[in-house]
Amino acid sequence: MKHPQHGNSCSDSCCLRIQNLSVSIGTETILSDINLHIHCGQMVALIGPNGAGKSTLINAILGQREYAGVITFSAPGMRHRKPPRIGYVPQSPSFDPGDPISVADLFVCCMSRRPAFLGTGKAMRRKILACLARVHGEDLMDKRVGGLSGGELQRVLLALALEPVPNILILDEPLSGVDVEGQTALMDMLDEIRKSYDLSILMITHDFGMLPQYADKAVLIDRTVVKEGAPSDVLNSPEFRQVFHTKGGQL
Ligand code: ADP
Ligand code: MG
Repeated sequence: MKHPQHGNSCSDSCCLRIQNLSVSIGTETILSDINLHIHCGQMVALIGPNGAGKSTLINAILGQREYAGVITFSAPGMRHRKPPRIGYVPQSPSFDPGDPISVADLFVCCMSRRPAFLGTGKAMRRKILACLARVHGEDLMDKRVGGLSGGELQRVLLALALEPVPNILILDEPLSGVDVEGQTALMDMLDEIRKSYDLSILMITHDFGMLPQYADKAVLIDRTVVKEGAPSDVLNSPEFRQVFHTKGGQL
C-alpha cells in the first residue's frame, strides 16, 4: 500500500528535489523546466509516451547525462548536497537462453573485480544469498540467467540494485516482459522494500493499472511535466488523454 505520511508539500526534511531541469542534445531540447519532489519512502511513477524523455530524465538523475538546473537530495544527518546513493534497475537486458552464466556469476561480476570464471568462495556465496534474500530469491542463486522468467530476472536485477541499500531506487520499465501475476508480486515486493528501508522509488512504467494501488504519485511527462498528482487523478485527466491521444473515458 501507499506511503501514508507524506502530502504533496516538501516540508519533509528528506527528499530528492529537481529544479528547473533541462536537457539538450545537440540543438534539440529534450527536456525543459522539469520540477519534481520525491519524498523518502514515496513511490513515484514516471509516465509518458515513447520519446517523452523519461529515460533521459533518469539518466540526468544518475549523472549520466549533462543537464542544466539543480538536482539535490537531502536527508536527516546527511550533509547538504551530498549525492545520494542511487540503485538503478535498467530496462530488462536480454540474455541468450543458452548462455551458461548463472545468477551467482552475475553477482560476482557486479560485486567484485574477480571475473566469474574464478568461481565463488563461500563468503561470496553467503553475501550473494543475503542479497537475494532481500527479494526472496535465494532459490535463484544457481539458475542460469538466460533461463529466468521476466519476473525472476527483475528480482535478480533488483537484488543487485539494493547492494548497497540506496537512498533512491530507480527502475526503468520493470513490469514489461513480466506476466500479470509476476507484476503484482513485483509491485508487492517493491512496496515491502520501500517500507523496510524507507527509500524513495522512481519507476518508469506503462502499466498504468497498477498505479492507483501502489504509487503515491504519478508524474506525466512529455518533454516537460504535463501533470502530476494522485495516480487516478493523472490517469483520468484531460492532459493524460491529450498526451496519449485517447478519446475520453476512464481507463
Ligand atoms: P522515453 O524514455 O520517454 O521513451 P527518451 O528519454 O529515450 O524517451 O528520449 C527522448 C528524446 O530524446 C527522443 O526524441 C530521443 O530520440 C531523444 N534522444 C535520446 N537520447 C538521445 C541521444 N543520445 N542523441 C540524440 N537524441 C536522443
Ligand atoms: Mg525510455
